[in-house]
Amino acid sequence: MAYSYEAPVSQTLFDRASHVTPGGVNSPVRAFRAVGGTPRFMVSGTGPYLTDADGREYVDLVCSWGPMILGHAHPEVTAAVQAAVARGTSFGTPGEGEVALAEEIVARIEPVEQVRLVSSGTEATMSAIRLARGFTGRSKVVKFAGCYHGHVDALLAAAGSGVATFGLPDTPGVTGAQAGDTIVLPYNDLEAVRAAFAAQPGEIACVITEASPGNMGVVPPLDGFNAGLKEICAADGALYISDEVMTGFRTSKAGWYGIDGVRPDLMTFGKVMGGGFPAAAFGGRADVMAHLAPAGPVYQAGTLSGNPVATAAGLAQLRLLDDAAYAKVDAVSAELRSLVGEAFTKAGVAHTVSAASNMFSVFFTDEPVRDYEDAKKQEAFRFTAFFHSMLEQGVYLPPSAFESWFVSTAHDQRAVERIAEALPAAARAASEATA
Ligand code: PLP
Repeated sequence: MAYSYEAPVSQTLFDRASHVTPGGVNSPVRAFRAVGGTPRFMVSGTGPYLTDADGREYVDLVCSWGPMILGHAHPEVTAAVQAAVARGTSFGTPGEGEVALAEEIVARIEPVEQVRLVSSGTEATMSAIRLARGFTGRSKVVKFAGCYHGHVDALLAAAGSGVATFGLPDTPGVTGAQAGDTIVLPYNDLEAVRAAFAAQPGEIACVITEASPGNMGVVPPLDGFNAGLKEICAADGALYISDEVMTGFRTSKAGWYGIDGVRPDLMTFGKVMGGGFPAAAFGGRADVMAHLAPAGPVYQAGTLSGNPVATAAGLAQLRLLDDAAYAKVDAVSAELRSLVGEAFTKAGVAHTVSAASNMFSVFFTDEPVRDYEDAKKQEAFRFTAFFHSMLEQGVYLPPSAFESWFVSTAHDQRAVERIAEALPAAARAASEATA
């Protein structure tokens, strides 16, 4: 597919990047491989807008893949960061900022009695799995196809083939031993979970699930699914781990837990809690967390864990996220969902706008999407045309049909109008696209 517009400075930067970095990016989702074209190199962000190296401004519907829930360069977060930087950037000792951030998390999310700070969502889920195995003395882990928990060896096993169903590696570099204890099941299928537990009683350390998945597009749990997981785990002595790296502090003040109220044994967090800096966490039951070094024998550590600049950013952001802020994000999301749905309906494009609180994405199908297999049945080629039309008109979407869109408190009426103006032509482009 040829694109009618150019991004010469981004192209030059991408060429330079490709010489020194595999694929030219530091995280695969940033490349435009699924949609084609040149990834935009961004130079600045303000509120709901990003500006690229060619000087073009975009309404941002990625928000750094979730963290920027207050928009870019929020003045109060920026001030907290500047003050923290001026005091020194890393001490390798405990500090009050990390205590305050931990207290904020514990205060917001009732099942979290104790929390350990780390630097990425991947570290959080990796550590939570290790802790669950150490606590239970068991080795097997259940995960769901289409759920992403970071690039943890044991959690990269995904569905799409019978090989993955048996937990065999589908990423070179992950050995059979690392993935062999991973059981991959279809999402939203409690019968499959019951069958897995019945087949290996007393062997499963934990079930890890995205609290409400956003990594196969947005596919919320069916009523009773998370509660069912919790019940099955409890009956067998396994731990229920809710991965709230994406949903945490975004879908409500207490994340997805604040919506479904199902009490996990362990939870993982990242993204929003770092205010745009590398800060993440895992936490939960105090008796389980007590197994973590130095209180207990399960080792886990990090040179930059609880970094003072990252904790200052996270704390400043969380303190601004009150009920009014969530009401604003929810309202913008609802307005955009309705505009997007209207545009596709007018253009005669089969679609489903799928939402979980203020997270949402579009599936190019009108069939229900309950799991990864359903998600893959969509006409993803339509997304490519839609994406490029939106980009050309100054709206930055995630460059994949299988990712959540994110909005912020900074998405004001002007930003919404710019999206609304771009939608009809983009929906037409989607309708005219061919596979
Ligand atoms: N868990 C979930 C649900 C995520 O969405 C992600 C990242 O997108 C991760 C874990 C990994 O987090 P990170 O990219 O910070 O390692």
